[in-house]
This record gives sequence, structure tokens and C-alpha cells, in this order.
Amino acid sequence: MISKKMTAALNDQLNFEFHSAYLYLGMAAYASSLGLNGFAGWFKTQAKEEMEHGMKFYHYIQEQGGEVALEDVAAPGVKFISAAGLFEQSLTHEKKVTQRIANLMAAAKKEDDYATESFLLWFLNEQVEEEAQLADILQKLAIGGKTGNSLLILDGILGQRK
Ligand code: MG
Repeated sequence: MISKKMTAALNDQLNFEFHSAYLYLGMAAYASSLGLNGFAGWFKTQAKEEMEHGMKFYHYIQEQGGEVALEDVAAPGVKFISAAGLFEQSLTHEKKVTQRIANLMAAAKKEDDYATESFLLWFLNEQVEEEAQLADILQKLAIGGKTGNSLLILDGILGQRK
């Protein structure tokens, strides 16, 4: 059993994971419109992962006897202005997610809610991976440049993501 307060906080993160999916789906559509299909595929996979994250919260809340409360999913809310910019926007977003997970972790600790702490650990580790992955892409863009051939090479690399 988890507290009402914790249930609400987890529901809020469930919602935010679907918002993240929406953001990445928007990025996929934008990349498609530029003809960068490798990028588009990468962002679609990213969107799918975010929905899976949302479902992890869904199942955890239910396992703990809490009530899943689904709210409106917010629109991406950012303007996509360039292909390279998508990765900067993604990193900014993931840093926000990392902070949110850290806040949840702090709340669980405060309540001596060890089960939720343990559940959230997976997400903390996942965020390290997410940020590292984006930093790697941004590093490649810094080396190769943010336009032209560099983008096409990166499109080929990202297109290989399963
Ligand atoms: Mg996520």
C-alpha cells in the first residue's frame, strides 16, 4: 500500500511520461517532414519507450492498490526549429525528467516508502542512460557540424536503432 500523496505523485509522473512520448512523437513528425527518416525512426522508438515508462507507473500504482488516474496529456509545447535542435530540446527535457524522478525519490524517502524507492531506482538509472545517449549525439553534432553531410551521416547512424 502506498500513501494517497505518493499515489498522486506517481499518477502525475505517469502522465508526464505520456507527455514525453507526445513530445518525441512530435519530433519524429518534424524529422520526417525534413526527410530525415533515420531521425524519425529514432524519435518514434523514443516515444514508444516513454509510453512503456508510463505503463510501468500504471502497473506499479495498481500493484500497490492505488487508483490510476488519467489526466489530459499536454501537447509537446515546444517549437521545432532545426534537426540538430531536436537533440538539445530532448536533453533539456530529459534533465527535467531526471529532476522529477529525483523529487519522487526524495518524497518516497521522506515517507519511508522503501518499495517506491526501489521502484524508482530503475528510472534513476534510465535517466543516466537517456542523458548520456543525448550527450553523445550532441557531441557528434559538435564534431561534424549541425547541417549538411554531418546530419545525413547521423541520420544513417540513428536509423539503425532497434
Ligand atoms: Mg521516460
